[in-house]
Parts: sequence; structure tokens; C-alpha cells
Amino acid sequence: MTPPDPIDCLVIGAGPAGLATAIYLARFRRRFEVIDDGNSRAAWIPVSHNLAGFTNGISGKNLLSRMRSHAKKYGAAITRGSIVKLAKETGGWFVATGADGRVIRASTVMLATGVIDDEPALPQLRQAVRRGLIRHRRICDGYEVIDNKVGVIGSITISEARWTVSLWPATSPAAWIRSSSRWGKRPSPPPQSTTG
Ligand SMILES: Cc1cc2nc3c(=O)[nH]c(=O)nc-3n(C[C@H](O)[C@H](O)[C@H](O)COP(=O)(O)OP(=O)(O)OC[C@H]3O[C@@H](n4cnc5c(N)ncnc54)[C@H](O)[C@@H]3O)c2cc1C
Repeated sequence: MTPPDPIDCLVIGAGPAGLATAIYLARFRRRFEVIDDGNSRAAWIPVSHNLAGFTNGISGKNLLSRMRSHAKKYGAAITRGSIVKLAKETGGWFVATGADGRVIRASTVMLATGVIDDEPALPQLRQAVRRGLIRHRRICDGYEVIDNKVGVIGSITISEARWTVSLWPATSPAAWIRSSSRWGKRPSPPPQSTTG
């Protein structure tokens, strides 16, 4: 059987990055598909206060839902699934294989797969994140904790812990918790080249 013609773009991931890409591609009338396995980090945002245009904040789930509707309005196809293999064919096409065995050929691929947090093994971590008690990013959350006592968890030095809260002069680390060896280890540096 002849394989189907390649699409213009395969977008892997439907978090904010993949969905923004989908909106543009759809409006450019490109042939594309978005495949997403439903684990966007954005879904964990209780309320985001730093997205322009949302003066009173917006939850990550609401944002994702709005972005999906926006992309679909222009005809974007967003499919639930997981890409497990990506290769390049002779001829230059990308060939992606889904966990269900489906094969998609595309002339370009947008990797919008995000990152996975390296989180501490704390009890009820997810509930604490949902309640905004544990926060991941000083850029997104620092303003909200001004004048509060903040504990910093991580495989970091005390000066790095101070730096973490240094954007807000009135805030200082009340506790500095170095992570266990299981979690938060820095990646090993790349091996030294022996050839110079
Ligand atoms: C608790 C918390 C609070 C945050 N607060 C804020 C905030 O207030 N403001 C802010 O700007 N940012 C905030 N962030 C960060 C924000 O969530 C990320 O920057 C954003 O989600 C990144 O978007 P992304 O599209 O790159 O990745 P993601 O949102 O992670 O989306 C990636 C998608 O790709 C999918 N995927 C991955 N691999 C595959 C595969 N092989 N096949 C198919 N699908 C795949 C995943 O399932 C996921 O749906 C917060 C993050 C967390 C965890």
C-alpha cells in the first residue's frame, strides 16, 4: 500500500507551545496534525498571573481549553496519542510512529513536548502544588509571595537559595532544604574530550 502523502507539519505536544503553533499553522492553511498525550505542565498551574491580557489571572486548564478551542476554530486536528519514534526517511521526510502503531509522515516536525519536572519525593506533593503551597518558578510565582516567608527546596547552595528569592528584596529564604541524593542531582558534566 502506498504511504499517505506527508503533511506539512507534525506538532508533537499540545501544551501552550504546540497549541500556539497549531493556531499559526491553521491560519496559514497548512496541512498538519497535533498529537498529544495529555500531560501538559500547564495543567498544573492553579492560577497564572503573568500572562498578558489576563488581568485577574487564569488557571492552566482554562488556558489550555481556550487555546485548544482557538486552534480548532481554524480547523486544527488535535489527536490524543503518544509519539514513540521519530526518524528521517531517505527523501527528507520525517516518519513518526505512534504508540498505537500509526505512522505519520511529515516534511517538518515541531517538538513541543515540554519538560518534566524533577520533583522532590514529598507526601501529597500534587495537592500542595494545586493549592499553590509549593511553587515551581520564581518568575511566575515570586510576586505572589512578596513579604512571605519562603522555603527553598533543591540541590543548591545557600547563595543559590538566596538568589532564588532575590528578585524581591523584602523576601528572604526562611528555610533552605537541600534535596536528598535521590532527587535533584545535577546532571553529570559531559565527558572531557581526549582529542582536544
Ligand atoms: C505548578 C506550575 C506552575 C506554573 N506556573 C506558570 C505561570 O504562572 N506562568 C507561566 O508562564 N508558566 C507557568 N508554568 C510553566 C508552564 O506550565 C510551562 O512553561 C508550559 O506548560 C510549557 O508549555 P509547553 O507547551 O512547552 O509544554 P507542556 O505544557 O508541558 O506541553 C507539552 C505537551 O507535550 C506532550 N508530549 C510530550 N511528549 C509527547 C509525545 N512523545 N507524544 C505526544 N505528546 C507528548 C505532553 O503530554 C504535553 O501535553 C508553571 C508550571 C508548573 C508546573
